[in-house]
Amino acid sequence: MTEDFPRPLPEADESSKPFWDGAMAGQLMLMRCSDCRRWRLPSRQHCDNCLSDQFTWEPASGKGTVRTFGVMHQKYHPGWAAIAPYNVTIVELEEGPRLPTNIVGAENSAITVGMPVIVEFEQHEDVALPKFRPA
Ligand SMILES: [Zn+2]
Repeated sequence: MTEDFPRPLPEADESSKPFWDGAMAGQLMLMRCSDCRRWRLPSRQHCDNCLSDQFTWEPASGKGTVRTFGVMHQKYHPGWAAIAPYNVTIVELEEGPRLPTNIVGAENSAITVGMPVIVEFEQHEDVALPKFRPA
């Protein structure tokens, strides 16, 4: 990526730092409940299933399927003008959580609901973004 990348990038906070550190290392890391073993995304204090506040960070498979997607034609921010139309996709991970992302390595017209995909990481200077390509 170029130095003048004009799109805003996410910044880790205390609760999401392991997710972003994992991405920089090429690994999709998710919170997992230590009691009922359910995966959590986004990271948060309590488990939705059993309300436990105990968790570990564990590597996810990086595999998922397209749950839904849209193709953005409107240029809401100058940073995205050059890449429009672009897709905004919800990938349902094999572990269960759904991750908002983009599909890469496929034309927007080739994206279908239920399509199997696998993670890859778009590296920037201080952050890596999880994107998905057809598996
Ligand atoms: Zn739980």
